[in-house]
Amino acid sequence: MALSYLLFRASAATMLEVARDPKHLVADIGLLSMLHTWGQNLQHHPHVHCVVPAGGLSLDGSRWVAAASRFFLPVRVLSRVFRGKFTAELKQLMVQDKLQVHGSLKELAAPERFQRFLRQLFSKDWVVYAKPPFGGAEHVLNYLARYTHRVAISNHRLVSFKDDSVSFRWKDYAAGSKQKVKTVSANEFLRRFLIHVLPKGASFASVTSAFSPTVNRPYRCCVAASCSRALRHHNSLLQQLRSSVRSAQSPARRRTDHQPSAPLCTDQHLTVHAPPR
Ligand SMILES: [Zn+2]
Repeated sequence: MALSYLLFRASAATMLEVARDPKHLVADIGLLSMLHTWGQNLQHHPHVHCVVPAGGLSLDGSRWVAAASRFFLPVRVLSRVFRGKFTAELKQLMVQDKLQVHGSLKELAAPERFQRFLRQLFSKDWVVYAKPPFGGAEHVLNYLARYTHRVAISNHRLVSFKDDSVSFRWKDYAAGSKQKVKTVSANEFLRRFLIHVLPKGASFASVTSAFSPTVNRPYRCCVAASCSRALRHHNSLLQQLRSSVRSAQSPARRRTDHQPSAPLCTDQHLTVHAPPR
């Protein structure tokens, strides 16, 4: 799990650092990250999805800083900062003997081979994929509801099980998202499926906030009490922002405006349970 937690830490630290940068948003942000370990064909493809409000608190905490409507943070900068943080900590984990390499990766245990591997990683362009905004708190909740209790493959993608082989549908993104059917032996199917069962006690979600570094840990998915004050402060600033936006709108626009006005976050603890085992 060391690598999964590294993904959480490096992605969250990257978002916080780039958002604070005077050349970018210049704000303290918070985010929620979800770990996925699978790709469409069930092979090992660890990555994290981060849900981030389009703005944050000014560095002195006095006001809400909203991102531009069509732009949050530059993906090229995020990609490079993430690559730097990930590879630096990967090296540290190896030096501290916290990383185990097995099977075809065994040769990376030799320091000079590992150094070469790090140079190869650094020579490539890394890609952070940013999606357009979801549109509000309800969309974020819908997104989370779809992801929190998902396993590597859903039943509707299973096509058949016969002659000791399992067939399942998958989307080949490299071929323009073409739908294909993959057939593998039952053993291979189970091997691929079990790669994505997290060890007991491991977490697949993480809450990170610039205001409460203590919750920047993937082992918990709980907004600590110390973070609650910051969230209340966030909410009051957002309410002020909404009031000023509403008062700037014309009366006709106000009558037809059905945007949800619920607070974006609450001071309740947020807990995401592990999927049933
Ligand atoms: Zn994913």
